[in-house]
Amino acid sequence: MPRGYAGKFLDVDLTREKIEETEIPEEILYRYFGGRGLAVKVLWDRLGRKWSSIDPLGPENILTVLTGPLTGFHPGSRICVSGKSPLSNGIVGATAGTEFAVELKCAGYDGIFITGKASNPVYLLITDDGCEIMDASHIWGKICEETIKILNTEVKRILTKRKPRIGLWREPSMIYIGPAGENLVRTAAVLTKLVHAAGYGGYGAVMGSKNLKAIVAKGRGPLPDTAAPKTVEILLNEYHKRLISRVRMRQWGTGYAGYAVGANLSSEPIRNWQEEWHDERNIGGPKYSARFWVKPYWADFNCTLSCMKISCIKSGRWKGDITDMPDYELEAYCGTNLGIFNPEDNVHMSALMDNLGLSGINAANTMGFAAELYQRGILTKEDLGFELKWGDAEAFTKLANLIVKREKIGNILAEGTYRAALKISEMKGIDVTRYAVHVKGIEVGAHGIRSGKDFHDKCYAANVQGGDHTSPAADPSPKDAGVWTELNAVFADSAVFCMFAVVPDLVWELTYAVTGWRIKEEEWCREQGRRIITLQRVLLLLGGPDIFWTPEKDDDNPRRFYEPLPTGPYKGKAAEKTVVERKKKEYYKAIGWDERGIPTEEELRRLGLEDIEKEVKKLRKQ
Ligand code: SF4
Repeated sequence: MPRGYAGKFLDVDLTREKIEETEIPEEILYRYFGGRGLAVKVLWDRLGRKWSSIDPLGPENILTVLTGPLTGFHPGSRICVSGKSPLSNGIVGATAGTEFAVELKCAGYDGIFITGKASNPVYLLITDDGCEIMDASHIWGKICEETIKILNTEVKRILTKRKPRIGLWREPSMIYIGPAGENLVRTAAVLTKLVHAAGYGGYGAVMGSKNLKAIVAKGRGPLPDTAAPKTVEILLNEYHKRLISRVRMRQWGTGYAGYAVGANLSSEPIRNWQEEWHDERNIGGPKYSARFWVKPYWADFNCTLSCMKISCIKSGRWKGDITDMPDYELEAYCGTNLGIFNPEDNVHMSALMDNLGLSGINAANTMGFAAELYQRGILTKEDLGFELKWGDAEAFTKLANLIVKREKIGNILAEGTYRAALKISEMKGIDVTRYAVHVKGIEVGAHGIRSGKDFHDKCYAANVQGGDHTSPAADPSPKDAGVWTELNAVFADSAVFCMFAVVPDLVWELTYAVTGWRIKEEEWCREQGRRIITLQRVLLLLGGPDIFWTPEKDDDNPRRFYEPLPTGPYKGKAAEKTVVERKKKEYYKAIGWDERGIPTEEELRRLGLEDIEKEVKKLRKQ
């Protein structure tokens, strides 16, 4: 077993109430690492040949909950949640910062593969003694804040009773879902630490489909051995010196971007992306700090960057609401995208998403879509039961609750933006897909492409994770020799640590010191990174069972991005179809895919993926 790994995985079948410990050979770990990479490999091996018939919300789907070899060592520990996505029908590696990943490793496990469906609501309790299936009927239906409180008290009591000689147990760490996941809302997140979410992909709904409310971990063992402990220590000292010197990020987190991205880059979603520019100086970390921050430096495990800030509304109608900052994405999606420019309302909407268990990016994208339909008179007061005007936080609160409960129009919007657009088009007899800002079913992150100052113009169109802004498709240039930021994002998701905390010139040395694998960036980008993306691409195109994507039609930007920006310094600018098409082809070629973006037989052979050739052949014929 390579160093950095605990050495065991858990296989949990909730239908049969069967739990087994498994090991994964070192050769596989070297080729896929952990997190996103290993999820893709395991999902292909176990489900790949019947992929198109697997219902993401059916018992056959596998929810993967994985750490990676750098989890617990690299600053900023995260957990990577994956499976067949109920939004894209492909695979997304969704990560969230949490100590849960460290507790899991300290309990002796690198990850969990969960299949089946429990007959009643359950949670998993993982300790040094193994994994148990526990009754969760008493927390089913509870909002996230209550779920955490109840499970914390309950698990501490159980462990104290079982091992009284240890004394009072400190609180465990957990991942969980809210009512959104329970009700199979496709934009539901898997959440942790009250305010963190693995949002992209809709894995909260996958967890809900298995009647699985939470996974709680408390490990008492140390982290696994490393290959060169002294070097790890030296490198981490250097890491922390560097991280602590990143003053702006440390002081404001990504929240500093709330004003800057909208005003300077003109790439922030406003009113469902009808605009991308604003000059609202009330938005953003520097304005929120005095008003809301009750904890100005908060971090995930082993991270001196401490970019998180806890906000609490101190008075008024939303008094007591708690969220983190909000970070840039939720300043945008729970703020400007809903026409909300009032800071209290922005913090409230972000806290609401956390508590209902919705992904703040994805679900708020759907709410913005609904509000635009209301603005255009396509959805009416009769459809909603209330007026839905831009900036009205009360109305958006009602809408979020309708979605979570799947009531009235909420039942349609709970399907995510794209599926809701298809249904509303049918219902109203008018094509509303043009207002759906998604790529392959995944709502687009809060970074626009039209101004040309932020993300580049085909980064979403060719992305194997659709609209996910954390891992956009690269813009390859002959000079970069295939070392692309996209593949470094795949590395962070597979070694499983926080991308914000990476120190590029130290990370490969740290990888060597932890694992003993002398792997360099070039090798990762040429071999492992491409292997993972290629496998993800194939499974995305195999898709199904309800929606299938075709490269010609669906490797594209949302239609909105071809409309000229109506306001701001980049007024009139838009993505250009011919440029996007050309860049897409360049990307396909650079990554070893054919003209249509289907991996070539030669590339599959080079990557050791011959076993998927049979499925890929079918895609080439379509
Ligand atoms: S950089 Fe911020 S988000 Fe990342 S691990 Fe550190 S505190 Fe968490």
